[in-house]
Amino acid sequence: MGYDLVVRSRRAVLPDGTRAAAVAVGGARIAAIADYGARLDTGRDVDLGDLVLLPGLVDPHVHVNEPGRTEWEGFATATRAAAAGGVTTICDMPLNSLPPTVSVPALAEKRAAAAGKCWVDVAFWGGAVPGNEASLRPLHEAGVVGFKCFLLDSGVPEFPPLDVAGLRSALGTLAAVDALLIAHAEDAAEIKPSSGRDFGSFVASRPPVAERRAIEKVISAAAATGARAHIVHLSAAECVAMIAGAKAAGIRLTAETCPHYLYFAAEQVPDGATEFKSCPPIRDSVNREALWRGLEAGVIDCVVSDHSPCPPELKSFGSGDFGAAWGGIASLQLGLSAVWTVARRRGRTLDDVARWMASAPAALAGLPAKGRLAVGGDADLVAFDPDETYVVDPARLHHRHPVTPYAGRTLTGRVRQTWLRGIPLLEGKGEASPVGRLLTRG
Ligand SMILES: [Zn+2]
Repeated sequence: MGYDLVVRSRRAVLPDGTRAAAVAVGGARIAAIADYGARLDTGRDVDLGDLVLLPGLVDPHVHVNEPGRTEWEGFATATRAAAAGGVTTICDMPLNSLPPTVSVPALAEKRAAAAGKCWVDVAFWGGAVPGNEASLRPLHEAGVVGFKCFLLDSGVPEFPPLDVAGLRSALGTLAAVDALLIAHAEDAAEIKPSSGRDFGSFVASRPPVAERRAIEKVISAAAATGARAHIVHLSAAECVAMIAGAKAAGIRLTAETCPHYLYFAAEQVPDGATEFKSCPPIRDSVNREALWRGLEAGVIDCVVSDHSPCPPELKSFGSGDFGAAWGGIASLQLGLSAVWTVARRRGRTLDDVARWMASAPAALAGLPAKGRLAVGGDADLVAFDPDETYVVDPARLHHRHPVTPYAGRTLTGRVRQTWLRGIPLLEGKGEASPVGRLLTRG
């Protein structure tokens, strides 16, 4: 019996290292991993030669915003950007859409809005907000990959933060079903009013101690309840030691950071360039170096986009006011190149990148069929040229509003082709219909 597709590469990034291999696909799954030159019966035999074969990336931190704020971003545009960037699975955040995903009916609305529009596979986070504790278990049973909470104002009124008692209570409920809580960890008590409109004033208003105090609360609540907790978009590298200590003590804690914290430094942010605004902020180059070390040491588990676009007018284009601008950086399509550009300079390998951006996020979200080139897993494949450089042209970005701090930057490493469950994406021929599925945990 023949295979549906065979993809060969002299540099296939497999779970046990990079080597020449042929990945044979039967149906939607990886059926065999054979020698590069193996004779395999198939109608479609693709030889990538020296191009790298990566597992499709898993991005567990994406704000799609549909339904409700679809003019900010939507499933069709976000998932097209993902496919172009080598990301074959995204997990959609529960906030910024209306309604927020804080109940089973809201999840149903979200899934209905996504159905038929997705170019990659999409899983969903639920939200933990004051007053919805009775919905957590039903949402878990409905297949969300975990629950997001804020420990300070989220920026949208319909998704309020948990206080310390609410955090503990939610973690206690989630511990009973071994569900994951992910937390936006900044402490409102440590956030100061911005003294000006400029980037420096904005960064000073959200100091590292705000992240530290909030992470302390998460660690102590996780320790008290035995629940699994995860710190989203870590920016303040001084927290790495505390996270390492908690892990060493057996507390079930993980952490992620983002390409923009690993690529940019505050010193490089031009005056008024509000496209660089994120919360927490991009910090200085010393902090960036320490974040890299935390990642390389395995304390930070994954790298995720925190893709969070908005219309250009909300990004305060023209006014340059960092206080008023929406905090969010959209990088679904660029994250792999941005991370690889710096990682290769540091002597890291694509095995490291695949761990940070594919296998670790898949494990975090409880998606065992994703993130690895392994027999039985989904045939999500990426052909990647690790040596090609390109200048970021916003006109080539697929997300809805191509506002990006990466505009004009020269990045290294380009996605040449993406397959989702064995189906080639974005070949330029205009596929008949989006083939992404809506996933549930497990
Ligand atoms: Zn986010």
